[in-house]
Amino acid sequence: MATLEIRDLHVSVETPDAGPKQILRGVDLTVRAGETHAIMGPNGSGKSTLAYSIAGHPRYTVTGGTVTLDGEDVLAMSVDERARAGLFLAMQYPVEVPGVTVSNFLRTAKTAVSGEAPSLRHWTKDVKAAMDALRMDPAFAERNVNEGFSGGEKKRHEILQMELLKPKVAVLDETDSGLDVDALRIVSEGVNRVRETGETGLLLITHYTRILRYVKPDFVHVFVAGRVAEEGGPELADDLEENGYDRFLDSSAPVT
Ligand code: ADP
Ligand code: MG
Ligand code: MG
Repeated sequence: MATLEIRDLHVSVETPDAGPKQILRGVDLTVRAGETHAIMGPNGSGKSTLAYSIAGHPRYTVTGGTVTLDGEDVLAMSVDERARAGLFLAMQYPVEVPGVTVSNFLRTAKTAVSGEAPSLRHWTKDVKAAMDALRMDPAFAERNVNEGFSGGEKKRHEILQMELLKPKVAVLDETDSGLDVDALRIVSEGVNRVRETGETGLLLITHYTRILRYVKPDFVHVFVAGRVAEEGGPELADDLEENGYDRFLDSSAPVT
């Protein structure tokens, strides 16, 4: 059973004018295959920084702590090695890949992650089934990655990748932002399909509780000022939906 373990993670980011700035201040989190975790928290609390750190983004420097996947040191891996190890990161601001079609991108990613090219017959069938399930037009496969994609298309493309790559652990950063109700439902159904395989651990990062109406988390972690301030079950998300983050922000205000 795959396990991602984050222990006492400290991360700083290089800022243009003020030098390094400490963002994560001791994050502890364990995500096992088959579990769905929601990370919630106010803007600027470091949620995306956690995602980028797991992904290995060069601008973020780990200043302490560990991240392991099945005991292997993730922080020592290159970005490619992390993907091959079974980590999947859907970023809040996906990049364009000029001149590479969705179809080629997916096949290249699948080949890189699994170590061999998928058999063309099965692969074509799998891609078609996954695109149908996400109500994506077949023509989408021939477009260049993220070039002129609408917000909803970007998110569907992320979920399409996740469904085809079958990662051990997937981190989805604000997959629900900017989606209308129909797109949110379609994307959530895709997340639930991955969840129901029981083979992927899901880390859903979200400011709002919208997606959590469709994807029920097993665990909710509230992020404040770069660490987990409170943990609970789905009822914690309901509480945040009703009462917002005020009580966390007040308690984290500097004592004067
Ligand atoms: P969240 O995703 O919870 O909104 P972020 O991880 O994006 O939070 O940001 C946490 C803090 O780190 C914020 O104060 C933000 O301004 C700062 N930060 C994040 N990335 C950078 C960066 N590349 N340069 C400067 N500051 C950054
Ligand atoms: Mg933000
Ligand atoms: Mg963010």
